[in-house]
Amino acid sequence: MILDSKGGKWYKGNLHTHTTNSDGRLTPQEAAEAYKAHGYDFLSLTDHWVKSEPSEYGGMLLIPGIEYDVIHNDSCFHVVGHFMNGSPKLDKSNSAQEIIDAVKSFGGTVTLAHPAWSLQKPHEMAALENVDFTEIYNSVSGYPYSPRPYSGTLIDVAAAMGFRATLTAVDDTHYYEDDAFRGFVYVKADSLTEEAIRAALLKGDVLATEGPFAEWTVEDGCFKVHIPGGCEHVQFFSSRYYNPDTTVKGGTVYDAVYKIKSNDRFVRAEIVGFDKKTAYTQYHFIDGGSR
Ligand SMILES: [Zn+2]
Ligand SMILES: [Zn+2]
Repeated sequence: MILDSKGGKWYKGNLHTHTTNSDGRLTPQEAAEAYKAHGYDFLSLTDHWVKSEPSEYGGMLLIPGIEYDVIHNDSCFHVVGHFMNGSPKLDKSNSAQEIIDAVKSFGGTVTLAHPAWSLQKPHEMAALENVDFTEIYNSVSGYPYSPRPYSGTLIDVAAAMGFRATLTAVDDTHYYEDDAFRGFVYVKADSLTEEAIRAALLKGDVLATEGPFAEWTVEDGCFKVHIPGGCEHVQFFSSRYYNPDTTVKGGTVYDAVYKIKSNDRFVRAEIVGFDKKTAYTQYHFIDGGSR
């Protein structure tokens, strides 16, 4: 847990993890031990088709989770459910939307996992209803396991088509080697309880990151980012294909401001450290509120 400039608590967690209950290398206990030893406040074990139970490990909150993977009409969908109060009857014949609806009916939250790795089609993303989260960064989808850890460009295209989801970064740990302890979220909550973390996630009080911490606000028609520890540069992303002022760089950057243009439909920012590790703010949607 870290404190922001106003004293707010941001808890650190990994929301996507595999164990020997599916295709991960460590047992659930070993996985919990590994993340606890690295200072995580919460963890969700999300094995394929096997739901984990709410628990805790040495003070680290264990959030119930599961990952469903299906292929429909040549499209691959991996859907992660968290906070479910039971297990719906689902199998690989179900569509992504049917899985999403079932997760919701059991009180769960819905994450569309690693859309770039899945080669998700943006119009299919935009057609899905009730997606709460999507992974802008997924460690195991990158080197040396796969070539597409970053989904930002794809999510931007889908967002321009109406897709709305809060961004997360995750490890999706399988090997517990280069895939572990790289992508995580900071969640702003008053306390480390399942209900408080769930509410904060759904509110969008989430920073997806590979390391840097940053705060952001939208005020006076500007998207403002503050980086308490400084960074190498800040990159703003909007729905316009060209903006002359999307990069803020020079020395160590602690603050960056982007003036929202009249035809911007969304803005978000990426904070890049000197070690190239990146943090990802949430979107600010001008045409449909902010998540
Ligand atoms: Zn997956
Ligand atoms: Zn996974």
